[in-house]
Amino acid sequence: MSIRLLGASDIRRLATELDVTPTKKLGQNFVVDANTVRKIVAAARVVRGERVVEIGPGLGSLTLAILETGADVTAVEIDSRLASRLLQTASEQGVPDGALTVVEHDAMTVTGLPGDPQVLVANLPYNVSVPVLLHFMETFENLRRGVVMVQAEVGERLAAEPGSKIYGSPSAKAAWYGDWRLAGTVSRRVFWPVPNVDSVLVGFERADAELGSLAERKQTFRLIDLAFQQRRKMLRQALSKDLGGTAASASAILERADVAPTARGEELTVHDFLRVARSMTDSDA
Ligand code: SAM
Repeated sequence: MSIRLLGASDIRRLATELDVTPTKKLGQNFVVDANTVRKIVAAARVVRGERVVEIGPGLGSLTLAILETGADVTAVEIDSRLASRLLQTASEQGVPDGALTVVEHDAMTVTGLPGDPQVLVANLPYNVSVPVLLHFMETFENLRRGVVMVQAEVGERLAAEPGSKIYGSPSAKAAWYGDWRLAGTVSRRVFWPVPNVDSVLVGFERADAELGSLAERKQTFRLIDLAFQQRRKMLRQALSKDLGGTAASASAILERADVAPTARGEELTVHDFLRVARSMTDSDA
């Protein structure tokens, strides 16, 4: 049986039936265009039999396009009105029983998911897109790749390289987990309601091995936050303040990490941050 995707009239009918007025607080901008959801799924190269997790399925537009490939989907939705209708929608649109699992939960705090997902595909709630992505990369280690739709500025930051104006804490932290790239733009017109920001697709591939241990990641992320709190300052200054010590000891830490004492956070790769984090730990010992 083939799966029928949702169009604009289906989305409005479902919203009316559920008495759902999309809320900004939950970033509820639903995709009402079948070509767009197919484009997202194609960018993620989802194939039959793969285990996909979707964050924020909403009324199900993207969910159905993922299921159309023959993949199994676990969908994590915080809004109980939307979560409770999703299985019925899937069944009405021709999805075979068992292909979709709905988890009603806050994606920011979910820790266990059925089906051990390998691929992430999502039109993310824009107000929490970076923390939710980092939470998923940290928590679901078997997620190998994915494609997410985010606000254009956020997507550009996630994919930014050191030295560019937009390189920041999300760029450096995301790079811990692997490679991130821009994978296309999406018109505002495909959403209901129409958002007042532009959207892009961002793809990622997880690196074969994590860069360091959990403790090293925590220390590296702390350092990244420190560096970008005052991005125009030299890392030495932020470090020295943090150590409550002298600029000399901060300089020694940076020197041992092979990072120039005059370097600013915006110039450093995640590997540089990790070496500084390790050098700080060594100096504690
Ligand atoms: N996937 C649907 C689509 O493309 O039409 C909806 C995308 S909409 C941009 C974001 C969805 O995420 C909404 O359904 C919203 O209720 C849900 N959401 C918001 N915050 C969430 C959270 N913390 N955990 C899980 N779902 C969340």
